[in-house]
Amino acid sequence: MPTYAYRCRSCSDTFELRRSMTDAREPAVCPQGHDDTVKLLTTVALTGSSGAGVAAAGATAAEASAGGGCCGGGCCG
Ligand SMILES: [Zn+2]
Repeated sequence: MPTYAYRCRSCSDTFELRRSMTDAREPAVCPQGHDDTVKLLTTVALTGSSGAGVAAAGATAAEASAGGGCCGGGCCG
């Protein structure tokens, strides 16, 4: 399940949630309980990857994000 990063506009905290892609569209509540949050670029989970693996995965995610992904299409925020 992918991990998504969010930022709270109430307390400026950033946090991550692991949720399904479907739920990624849903509003996230920050650890302090605020619901005025925005989704940041998807982060890649750092589980069991070498440095090279993380770099490759990060590049792939960036390309996907820029090439017609939700954020690339301007529908985020
Ligand atoms: Zn907050």
